[in-house]
Amino acid sequence: MAKASPQFTCTECGAAHKKWAGKCDACGAWNSIVEEAPLSTGPASKTLGAAKGRRIELSTLAADEAPPPRTRSGMIEFDRVLGGGLVPASAILVGGDPGIGKSTLLLQAVANFARSGLKCLYISGEEASAQVRMRAGRLGLSEAPVQLGAETNLRNILTTLEAERPDLVVIDSIQTMWADMVEAAPGSVSQVRAAAHELVTFAKTRGVSVILVGHVTKEGQIAGPRVVEHMVDTVLYFEGERGHQFRILRAVKNRFGPASEIGVFEMTGAGLAEVANPSALFLSERGQAAPGSAVFAGIEGTRPVLTEIQALVAPSSLASPRRTVVGLDSGRVSTILAVLESRCGIPFTGLDVFLNVAGGMKVLEPAADLALAAALLSAREDVALPPDLVIFGEISLSAALRPVGQAENRLKEAEKLGFSQAIAPQGTKVEGGAGMRLRKLPDLVTFVGDMFGAG
Ligand SMILES: [Zn+2]
Repeated sequence: MAKASPQFTCTECGAAHKKWAGKCDACGAWNSIVEEAPLSTGPASKTLGAAKGRRIELSTLAADEAPPPRTRSGMIEFDRVLGGGLVPASAILVGGDPGIGKSTLLLQAVANFARSGLKCLYISGEEASAQVRMRAGRLGLSEAPVQLGAETNLRNILTTLEAERPDLVVIDSIQTMWADMVEAAPGSVSQVRAAAHELVTFAKTRGVSVILVGHVTKEGQIAGPRVVEHMVDTVLYFEGERGHQFRILRAVKNRFGPASEIGVFEMTGAGLAEVANPSALFLSERGQAAPGSAVFAGIEGTRPVLTEIQALVAPSSLASPRRTVVGLDSGRVSTILAVLESRCGIPFTGLDVFLNVAGGMKVLEPAADLALAAALLSAREDVALPPDLVIFGEISLSAALRPVGQAENRLKEAEKLGFSQAIAPQGTKVEGGAGMRLRKLPDLVTFVGDMFGAG
């Protein structure tokens, strides 16, 4: 068998490369490629056809199986993101920046699952048991029947799980786990993959649910959670800004429920508190009607969420003016700036543009296009939009406004929060009600004329 040549792997996305490069072609990350011992390719002399395998059991499509029984933690926001509760034998990855509160969230969740009758284990490779116990005390969870372990050796963990047979185990974090059959340092791509594979396989064969914690890393030496995303059933990301008390748990993949569902939490002294009405929260910091602010009626997963999009437009001293975008897709922003410039004749050359979503929320729906354009125009013209107005709609490259889904839910949520007028694309299938004046516009040019006068 030929000796395998050294292999280079991206620690961000796990892509394999033939040689080292500064930038990963697969995901675009810089300085993320490291050399790794190649995985064994197995005996090369035999083809698969040489020896017969076992015949697998086949079944028809008609088999009507009941949906998997789910266990609810009682944390409504957490259960929703999981798709309605925890599915037995499922593997879940919870990723997020270090220090964002993943351990706090999971300790609260696991304590709740334990209280609702599941046998729960919490394995920490990051902290000693005493530290986890101290956190549990701070969160008022000391009485919850969770069993605690501090270990990084995967072999010992699997032996323990085999003996204990819990319903749910939390591994905090996957980057600290170490499988002794892999010759690589803990945290490397091959270790993280091997450990995740072992744990997920264990979950599937023994009917144990596994939650893996994965830190989003900035340095290249430690593999990030994206490396194991494809191995698990559900991928959740815990987002938020450190300065802000709001945290958002977002499902980016879910075999057992809708993806893009979000759960909203507030970081308090006693842990994470659930936020039942995120719209009110995201709009709570909104002051008097100011230029550059537009309220977008969005949908996150299955529920409507209102957010404030803020823009600032200022003369630039730079040859290529700044385009600073937080919480929105910057590609989308460039497209809308180009449409405003070439279809509506409103140039942004020589102007710095800053865009932000209030409250640390991320808005990635194309339905936010019109609200985004409205915030930009309002900032540029220095004219405030009516404070009781919500906006939604997609903008095409021809500047036409395209209707978006769930218009009725968007309007209902807006009305509930005291908004009384809305602008939506022509072709939107709902009508305004008594408490909501709905204007439907065909294109961006009409919108500009309507809101800011001709020119
Ligand atoms: Zn990559």
